[in-house]
Amino acid sequence: MKIIDGKKISNEKRAEIKERVVKIRQQTGKIPGLATILVGADPASQIYINSKIKACENVGIKSFHHTLNENSSKEDIIALIKKLNENPEIDGILLQLPLPQNKNAQDCLNSISPLKDVDGLHPFNAGLLNLSKSWDEIIEKNILVSCTPLGVMHLLLKSNIEVEGKTAVVVGRSNLVGKPLSMLLLSKNATVIIAHSKTKNLKEICRSADIIVAAIGKPNFINREFIKNGAAVIDVGINRTPEKIYGDVNFDSVKDMDIEITPVPGGVGPMTITMLLENTLKAFSNRK
Ligand code: NAP
Repeated sequence: MKIIDGKKISNEKRAEIKERVVKIRQQTGKIPGLATILVGADPASQIYINSKIKACENVGIKSFHHTLNENSSKEDIIALIKKLNENPEIDGILLQLPLPQNKNAQDCLNSISPLKDVDGLHPFNAGLLNLSKSWDEIIEKNILVSCTPLGVMHLLLKSNIEVEGKTAVVVGRSNLVGKPLSMLLLSKNATVIIAHSKTKNLKEICRSADIIVAAIGKPNFINREFIKNGAAVIDVGINRTPEKIYGDVNFDSVKDMDIEITPVPGGVGPMTITMLLENTLKAFSNRK
């Protein structure tokens, strides 16, 4: 088993981003800015938001954090987003999901200016991703793509894992992870299978994969029976228990296999935050 070290790859990328921020400051006198919004006080969301703010500080991106109380209405959230849309110091806006009490998150996301939509969840940016014909086009046009899928692609490319012509099985079809990642893998010429809770013969389908991505949200769900030797396994899952964080892949059961795999923690998680920083710089440049 070979570990895909998300922390190391992420740190290298953050060092590069830090240098780019310095250059931006020297050349324009401006500092890229990211606004984060947390609604309520969910402990896991608080941890994510704090990591994002700290990551911004570490690379020199200015962060503007807003907390709204749990009972804030959809209209309150949209009113704040509209203010942030108009603030010239802010290049990116991140609304931490999930929102409490089943508020309609997509309505709130739709109110983010597409130019500041650093999570790529506005229909305009999701549409651009779907319409693009190739990975190169996505990169050249600076399309804002959801951070976790972008991070997964970065891990694959940096680890020299061949994507073109390979069979990729993505387990999970959420708008945040599964769907955009499938489009990115397709843009890199993989043959993509999207699996979900109604998929039949999931084990057999997964065993056909050269690249398998688990984005399910069920601890240890994928074990060695789902994986063929030689595969690359990307574990997106973050399943918190009081003792430990588990991925969606049963790491112990695949330890002796001839595979490459991202650990949890230390795999996809750090890359997600790094891609948020990357997207903030993209948004800065697109807004100019
Ligand atoms: P989600 O919206 O709950 O989607 C889960 C997906 O898994 C759904 O498409 C669901 O299928 C599918 N699924 C559920 N049970 C299944 C089963 N038994 N067999 C096959 N598919 C099944 O979750 P998400 O937002 O995509 O997140 C997925 C995981 O990634 C979570 O653990 C989350 O915490 C983690 N995550 C990590 C990061 C990171 O930075 N590392 C970022 C985002 C999310 P249906 O559509 O049919 O219901």
